[in-house]
Amino acid sequence: MLGLMQNQPLLISSLIEFAERHHGDAEIVSRRVEGDLHRYTYREVAGRARQVAGALDSMKLQFSDRVATLAWNGYRHLELYFGVSGSGRVLHTLNPRLHPEQIAWIANHAEDQVLCFDMSFLPIVKAIHGNCSTIKQYVALCDADKLPADSGIPNLVSYEAWIAAQSSDYAWPSFDENSASSMCYTSGTTGNPKAALYSHRSTILHAYAAALPDVMCLSARDSILPVVPMFHVNAWGIPYSAALTGAKLVFPGPGLDGKSVYELIEAEKVTYAAGVPTVWQMMLGHMKPAGLKFSTLKRTVIGGSACPPTMIHAFQEDYGVEVLHAWGMTEMSPLGTLCTLKNKHLSMSKEEQMKIRLKQGRAIYGVDMKIVGEDGKEIVWDGKAYGDLYVKGPWIVAEYFKGEGGDPLVDGWFPTGDVATIDPDGYMQITDRSKDVIKSGGEWISSIDIENIAVAHPAVAMAACIGVRHPKWDERPIIVVVKKPGAEVTREELIKFYEGKTAKWQIPDDVVFVDAIPMGATGKILKTRLREMLKDYTLPSA
Ligand code: ADP
Repeated sequence: MLGLMQNQPLLISSLIEFAERHHGDAEIVSRRVEGDLHRYTYREVAGRARQVAGALDSMKLQFSDRVATLAWNGYRHLELYFGVSGSGRVLHTLNPRLHPEQIAWIANHAEDQVLCFDMSFLPIVKAIHGNCSTIKQYVALCDADKLPADSGIPNLVSYEAWIAAQSSDYAWPSFDENSASSMCYTSGTTGNPKAALYSHRSTILHAYAAALPDVMCLSARDSILPVVPMFHVNAWGIPYSAALTGAKLVFPGPGLDGKSVYELIEAEKVTYAAGVPTVWQMMLGHMKPAGLKFSTLKRTVIGGSACPPTMIHAFQEDYGVEVLHAWGMTEMSPLGTLCTLKNKHLSMSKEEQMKIRLKQGRAIYGVDMKIVGEDGKEIVWDGKAYGDLYVKGPWIVAEYFKGEGGDPLVDGWFPTGDVATIDPDGYMQITDRSKDVIKSGGEWISSIDIENIAVAHPAVAMAACIGVRHPKWDERPIIVVVKKPGAEVTREELIKFYEGKTAKWQIPDDVVFVDAIPMGATGKILKTRLREMLKDYTLPSA
């Protein structure tokens, strides 16, 4: 016997329809490439998203055809999120931080038909358009009078002229909720990038879950600043969850420096912000010397790479902002775990609570996880034993676009490539990427732990720990450090700084000072490149 409830497909268009009808006057504020602030409401987002859908229909674009974007977080990008997916096409967000050659490779692999770009990325489009054989329409995200006359880009139109020709009176189509809605390529540090292809159903379920109190805790009373880019994993799903809750959205555009982000938070009464640790490092770096405080910010979700304890501490103790440490990946839409306390933790001391807050958190309903040993058997959840982290759930990839890389699953579980512990309360903590784990004398050393200690030193701006071959111990850790401008610390001082903070055998054998640590397009340290940089390095003790 089937249930007798209405069977409505879970479609992305329903999010913007809901926001328009029930939160029509809630604001969307964007810092534009032009430098000014743009402000309007969900009502206008919805109308213009329907115009986008009309523009795609008038081009005779087919169901599931890909429409690419090269854009900052902003209102036009938001309209494309709803207009492209809502009309049955697939939104393909390209990462402008990749090399142009890689962007062209990805656009060809995805067979993008349209490319919408912010004017900041005009040089990229100029460099790649000759190599992008499938793109038949280029759309510059600007007013008609800002369109460059002599760009050399064929079939170029301004976004405003493109949608102005369409009516905002458009009926969203209904189709199978399992249809593809958007796609994002993983950064592909090894081999070619592979794409996660999200569906309407996976996106809506993820948006519901993300808004829950123990996850991102979003509501119509929030003013949300997603600093995390809309060009990577849909800004952690925030555009969808914001529409689902009717929250105000504040977009930073290209202004990602500490001063711009701080000023936007204050001016737009932001209550909630989301971003990777490096962004917050810049912001706190701007605030501290000037003695600035927040007047409205309550919570910030930090993920993408491990959030150093010093940052969680600074947000909470110095600024009264709760940090929600989060973990996920492109293949997981991306949310997997979030760190919030349970009832039984509330009576604990602040120090004990902090030990929990440092972990990457508990699984969100919809994500199941396990850790397995080298023999493939599941490992106990005692918070000490570590193993390869596997996940499964309805917003986790089953396979990559075009079947690249074969079947990624092992007995229905997706291997994340991360190594982790899980404690008896279900809190997961990442020790490393499996390829970055350091094995010394048969024991594993967590590079994240070693890095966290280094960045707690006042003279250290950034630190990366890697393993170096050792004749006796197989590998020994060294720490590669970028000093803060004007700050001084010696190798000996930094090694001494580790004493009492970690087991003796885990203390790095050496400190290598560098001017910069190589970073990837998604804001993570590129350890492969770092190892290449240091290939001639030998340990003092070897
Ligand atoms: P990429 O495209 O670079 O793979 P992802 O955003 O998909 O980008 O990266 C996912 C990986 O980032 C995870 O598998 C994990 O190694 C790392 N990561 C994400 N969040 C955290 C976190 N809070 N702590 C430690 N590592 C994290």
